[in-house]
Order: sequence, then structure tokens, then C-alpha cells
Amino acid sequence: MTLNSALTSEQIKKAVAAVKENKPVYADMLDFYGRIFDAQQDSKNRIRIQPLQITAEMLAVKAQEKFPLIEIKEFTFDETQAGNLFVTICKLAKKANPQMAAAAEIILKAVETTLKPNALFAGLLDGNEALFENVAEEFKIDKQVLGFITYNSLKPCLALAAEQLASYLNKDEPWQKGYCPICGSAPILSILAGEGDRSLVCSFCWHQWPVKRVFCPFCENRDGQSLQYFFSDEEKEFRVDTCDKCKKYLKTLDTRKAGRLIYPPLEQLSSLHLDYKAKEMGYESGIRLFVQV
Ligand SMILES: [Zn+2]
Ligand SMILES: [Zn+2]
Repeated sequence: MTLNSALTSEQIKKAVAAVKENKPVYADMLDFYGRIFDAQQDSKNRIRIQPLQITAEMLAVKAQEKFPLIEIKEFTFDETQAGNLFVTICKLAKKANPQMAAAAEIILKAVETTLKPNALFAGLLDGNEALFENVAEEFKIDKQVLGFITYNSLKPCLALAAEQLASYLNKDEPWQKGYCPICGSAPILSILAGEGDRSLVCSFCWHQWPVKRVFCPFCENRDGQSLQYFFSDEEKEFRVDTCDKCKKYLKTLDTRKAGRLIYPPLEQLSSLHLDYKAKEMGYESGIRLFVQV
């Protein structure tokens, strides 16, 4: 977490407004996502989950072996709050682009009959992609939209659980790995702050952890020759780090050049053009999730 992180609903709203002003091309998209962020913050304030417990013995083994604190399937969630948020996001999605709106309409009707959001949440945590394929097929909806709504309904629970678990991490012994110390997922963003301190943001639970300045989080390559980056003059706060060893890329946000409040999910979304550019150049995303976050 950096000093200029947006943490409260008001700060997130300000961050969204600032990015909309800078990047009008994203305005419509950010209107939609701004409402989702708002609903997620509201949900997060209501969530009641028991903090996951890890014994001292287990903790020592995990630290020794560089295992993350938990596996994704071990996340718990507040069924009521996640379920309510699922319906709220469907209603917001009905006003989004036609493809999303059509799917959201069908999903809302299905929730009144046979579709159980809790089964989707459990399926997502279990990595049960087939479940999403089957439900999408049964209701003739887009699997991506179904995954997107499911993940975003669960996200406040995941973020809260990660915040609770972070108390188990040893601050005197930085993790330094390219995968999340909480849940083991790949990073979605790299953040530079302060004196050039680098941290990575988890693509699943959004935990942020400090790492070395120069290394590829996906293959641990430290050879400067094959680690490059590109950026555009119009957008100095962003650059894209590329690795020619594993051919993966990661977007980096330099908060010192941004001059505004930072909310990582917003930064991720409003820089999607850089993902397209990196893919055009032959690099792949290192994220292994089967749902769009
Ligand atoms: Zn994580
Ligand atoms: Zn690499």
C-alpha cells in the first residue's frame, strides 16, 4: 500500500473522476466500473467473515518452503453479502454494453429459479471452469460475463480475507517472490513508489507485496539484457515491463509520476490499451485465472 492509495469510497470516487478526466476514451467504461467499485466498497463494509487461522507450526513450514499462506480454495466468503452484490452487479450490468446487458438480464432471471450464486462462488474458488462452461451453455450466456460478475461479487470478501491474513506475514523478511504471499496468484500490476521501491499487486486477492526492483515475477529472470520495457510519452506514469526469457509482460505504474490517488483495480482497467499493445508485440499476460477480473 503506497501513501497515495485510495482507500475509502470517497477517495475511490475521486480516483475514478481523475482518470476519467485524463482518459476520456475510458469514460463510459469507468462510469460502469465506478458504480461496481462503489457497490463493492459498500459490500466490504457489511461483510462478516471469520479470519482464517494458521498455526505457528504451519506458518513456519510455509515460510521455509515459500508457500503462500493459503490456497485459493481455502478462501471463505459471506454468502449473504456476496449474493446481494451478485444481484447488484447484474442490475448495473443491464445498463452496460449490449453483450453484458443481455447476459445480465438472463442471469437475474435465472437467480430467481435454479441458478445459485453460492455454487458459482464455490466453483470459482475450486477452479471449476467446467461449471462456468455448463452454466453458460445451459442459459445461453457468455461465459466471460458470468465469470466477471461472479468474481466481482466475491472480490470484497477476498480482499478482506487477504487483509486479515496479512497479519501473518513477516515484515522483517520480505517475500521477494513473484507470486502472492497470501494466495499464490500471479501479479496483475507492478507499482513503483517512494525511492523507487517496487511492489506487486495480486491478480486475485489484490494484496500488495514488496519485491526487488529488477526481476521478472513470472520466471525470476534477473538478466537486465532480456528484461526490457516500453512506454508512451503521453502516459508517463505507466510502462510495460517485458521479459524475453518467458515472453510475459507486466504493467508498471509509477505513482510518483501519476500525481493522483491510486486504486489498483482502476489502474488495471484504464490501461487495457497497454495489454493490447504488449500482446501485439508477442508477449503474454502472466495471469492464470480463468475469469476476467
Ligand atoms: Zn493473492
Ligand atoms: Zn520472465
